[in-house]
Amino acid sequence: MKYIGAHVSASGGVENAPLNAHEIGATAFAFFTKNQRQWVAAPLTETSIRLFKERCEELDYKPHQILPHDSYLINLGSPEEEGLKKSRAAFLDEVQRCEQLGLDRLNFHPGSHLNKISEDDCLKRIAESINITLDATRGVTAVLENTAGQGSNVGYRFEHLRQIIDLVDDKSRIGVCIDTAHAFAAGYNLATPDGFRSVFQEFDDVIGFSYLRGMHLNDSKKELSTRVDRHEVLGEGHIGITVFELIMGDSRFDGIPLILETPDETRWSKEVAWLKSNVKA
Ligand SMILES: [Zn+2]
Ligand SMILES: [Zn+2]
Repeated sequence: MKYIGAHVSASGGVENAPLNAHEIGATAFAFFTKNQRQWVAAPLTETSIRLFKERCEELDYKPHQILPHDSYLINLGSPEEEGLKKSRAAFLDEVQRCEQLGLDRLNFHPGSHLNKISEDDCLKRIAESINITLDATRGVTAVLENTAGQGSNVGYRFEHLRQIIDLVDDKSRIGVCIDTAHAFAAGYNLATPDGFRSVFQEFDDVIGFSYLRGMHLNDSKKELSTRVDRHEVLGEGHIGITVFELIMGDSRFDGIPLILETPDETRWSKEVAWLKSNVKA
C-alpha cells in the first residue's frame, strides 16, 4: 500500500492537519506540532489532542501514515553548549508532543557543525542527543532526514546517517526519511532510471530499506551536486518525473508516508492524484 500526501498546515491547531490532508485527497500527511520557527510553544491542549485523534480515526490516518517534522531551530549536533542544551530540550518536547498525539515517528534534520567541530564529532553529538531523548520517551522513532549539505549541515551522505544509526543504542527506534531533492542536490543522481536504481541500491547497501520510515517527494530547483536546498513542483525541476513514477511502482516504498514538500500548495491535489495514478497494484 502506498500512502501519499503533503506537508500540510496545522495553523489554528494540530487538529486541522488531518482536515487539510483530507482536502487534497491525501492518504498520508506531514505537519509541525508547534510553530517551527519558535523555540518554545504552549503545550498541546486536551481539546487539540482529542480532536486530532478523533479526526485521524474518522479520516483513516494511522500513525504509519503520519510524519511530523520538528522545528528548524533544533541542532542536535550543535558545537555550542548553550545551543545543544536548548536543542535537546526542544527535541524532547517535540517527541513528547508526538507521544501525546499517539504518533510513532518524528522526522528531523540531523544537525550542523557550524564550522566549529568536525563532521565526525557533530555526528557523534547527534547520536548522543538521540540516545538521551529515546531514553526519556516511549514509542516514538527518531527519523533522520538526509540533507542537501547546505552550509554546515551534516547528513548529506548516506554514510553520515549510517554512522548515527550505528551509535544509537535502540535500533528499533531510529529510522530515516529520504528527501529526493536533498539527495539530488547532494550529488545522488535520481534523474534517470539507471540513477534511481543505483542510488537506492547504494541506500540499501549503506543504510538498508528496513530503516526507511518515510520519503519526501520533491523535485529540485537546483542542479545535481549544487548542495543547495530548493524544492520544485514534481516534473518542473532538474530531477524530472521519472523517479517519482519509479518510486510509485516500487514495493520497497510501501507502507510509509510519502510526503510532498513542493512549493505550490494549490497544486498538491493534482500532484497527489498524479502520484496515485502511477501506483502499480
Ligand atoms: Zn525536512
Ligand atoms: Zn524534506
